[in-house]
Amino acid sequence: MRTIVIAIAAAAAVCGSLPAAAAGVDKLYVLDCGHISATDQSRWSPGVNVGVPIELSDNCYLIHHAQGWFLWDTGLPDALAALPDGAKDPNTGFVTKRAKTLASELDALGVKASDVKAMAISHTHPDHVGNVEEFPQAMLYVQKAEYDWPNANGTPRFKPEHPVTKLEGDHDVFGDGSVVIISTPGHTPGHQSLLVRLPKTGVVVLSGDAAHFKANWDNRRVPGPNFNKEQTLASMQRIADVLAKEHGQLWINHDQPQTDAQKKPPDYYD
Ligand SMILES: [Zn+2]
Repeated sequence: MRTIVIAIAAAAAVCGSLPAAAAGVDKLYVLDCGHISATDQSRWSPGVNVGVPIELSDNCYLIHHAQGWFLWDTGLPDALAALPDGAKDPNTGFVTKRAKTLASELDALGVKASDVKAMAISHTHPDHVGNVEEFPQAMLYVQKAEYDWPNANGTPRFKPEHPVTKLEGDHDVFGDGSVVIISTPGHTPGHQSLLVRLPKTGVVVLSGDAAHFKANWDNRRVPGPNFNKEQTLASMQRIADVLAKEHGQLWINHDQPQTDAQKKPPDYYD
């Protein structure tokens, strides 16, 4: 059996497509990892809906695999939960809030931080990496291009002592095709998305910030602050191709209406 899996994986690698072997994932939880209120959505859709406010969800996704717990994105910092009115970013004017901490959400599911064996972040913006260091033991999967991208003030994006696997492209996390990191650069230099192959739900692609909300996805709009416009468009096409091939669903992290319609813990997708 192992030989067959390896053979399939090798064949997939040769064909350049994503592995499609048996799924070892049995639970996918959508966690509330904060909320963002913005006064002008045209930051993400240049020239469209100028001056129109928008509310954005900010999710984390907790995945149970036979080999252990895996966390995708960590949301806004848990410290925000202590501020009922949230915090206002002096540069962007965004008001960010957290109704509850990630730690408390994991606790409610009976999951300890030390149970999270591996994690990956879509990219290093603060609404995605706010709690990486709550999991100091967890193997962090990140693109090398993102890891090596210095902060504006020249400091590193991660603590050098945090265990890390620096990727240069796609990565099949558990080796069975059930959780596959897809390289989707453009929003940032090493932005990535995540394919999850669930036994009943089927294939779900977690967007990261490849698109921020449905209208932007549908119209292939590229936010003004993105690192690279051409890469962003190519990455959206890459995701669209994966969704078409796998008959998958796109879950857009910041799309508030879509998030509102999704199951919440203790419910999960299987
Ligand atoms: Zn974001």
